[in-house]
Amino acid sequence: MDLSDFGRRLSAETGIGRLMDDLGKALSRGNSDMCMLGGGNPGHIPEVETILRKNMQKILDTPGEFEHAIGDYVTPRGDELFIAALAKFLNEQFNWGVTPENIVLTNGSQTGFFMLFNMLAGKQANGTTRKILFPLCPEYIGYADLGLADDFFLANRPDIEFIDDHTFKYHVNFSTLDIGPEIAAICVSRPTNPTGNVITDEEVDTLRCLAREMKIPLIIDSAYGAPFPNVIFTEATPTWDESMIMCMTLSKVGLPGARTGIIIAREDIAAAVANMNAVTALAPGSLGSALAYELVRSGDITRISNEIINPFYKERSQRGYRQFISGLDGLDVFLHKPEGSMFLWLWMRDLPITDVELYNRLKNRGILVVPGSYFFHGVDDSWRHRQECIRVTFTQDAEMVERGIDGICDEIRKAYS
Ligand code: PLP
Repeated sequence: MDLSDFGRRLSAETGIGRLMDDLGKALSRGNSDMCMLGGGNPGHIPEVETILRKNMQKILDTPGEFEHAIGDYVTPRGDELFIAALAKFLNEQFNWGVTPENIVLTNGSQTGFFMLFNMLAGKQANGTTRKILFPLCPEYIGYADLGLADDFFLANRPDIEFIDDHTFKYHVNFSTLDIGPEIAAICVSRPTNPTGNVITDEEVDTLRCLAREMKIPLIIDSAYGAPFPNVIFTEATPTWDESMIMCMTLSKVGLPGARTGIIIAREDIAAAVANMNAVTALAPGSLGSALAYELVRSGDITRISNEIINPFYKERSQRGYRQFISGLDGLDVFLHKPEGSMFLWLWMRDLPITDVELYNRLKNRGILVVPGSYFFHGVDDSWRHRQECIRVTFTQDAEMVERGIDGICDEIRKAYS
């Protein structure tokens, strides 16, 4: 098949593609022996699912609502009622001063990033090319293949703070962060997928000032952050102003199947994304906003996030962290301080094999994780650290996660010996 440049880029096998494939196969096999500690699927939290089921029932029981939700295209910006409720909710919660013109929905935030990144970076009207800068890496694997041009991303190696004998934290290394005219936007996930890092308020403020100075947006990917699902276990202030683009999603609230991403941005940026929605999809899907509308309108989504979703992941995170610490005792292995998200990040200093070799050994014994090197896109290849890490997801069945962590500890011990 003769493919265009676009075709070759997007149809090639990618890290994210292989990951989704492994995960999908493991899920569809119904293979109960497979420990799925690899994907980014949120957990199935019964209390949340009961609430969503009730919302669906209400839609079904209210004359005309189901027919509207499935039978009508919404505007390219997304369901207007939902957007108005969200603007009100954000202003009441955080006093952000957003209007519906600052908000646009997309078919999942992944699609939103594809549009935002390519709208800002790549070839410019004046012939120059610009890039997306990750001020901190490792960073979300899903960004890696979104660029429609070469050398699309630039990433900055982090500073490493040792917190105790087993724990470390990445920080933005501002002394090496170079934001020249070739940078189109700065992007960071907070909490970070894959590490569970939550960059500090000071780091956000400094990035915001740097971005403002350069007249470029600071994109905060809040897929796991505030106000929902708020899977944050530390102090962090959610901020937004017109120099920022805040990306949220309903996926990690328990609705990944509904594909609903939310972008909060300056009016012209939000309008541009809405126009791109019209071209690529006519309109975003409306089932997600229909299911979440009442939760946002009533503000109940905050209670669900803080009282159900956050404690579920916090308990999982702490349990997994403790199990790793005792299972890896005596080895030169560190965990990133778990401050949020659905992952634990292991750094195996001077591991005699690569992360990919470890991934394969684990896969052969029925445990799926993600090799850490997939998350270092945009950073130079020579840093050994990138082959010394893995990401472990703790969202699935608790007993399976425990079995998986035991197996990982055993395999790491073998690799060192
Ligand atoms: N951003 C981050 C950090 C993620 O982890 C994910 C999914 O795992 C996404 C964005 C995309 O989420 P969705 O497209 O389901 O909204």
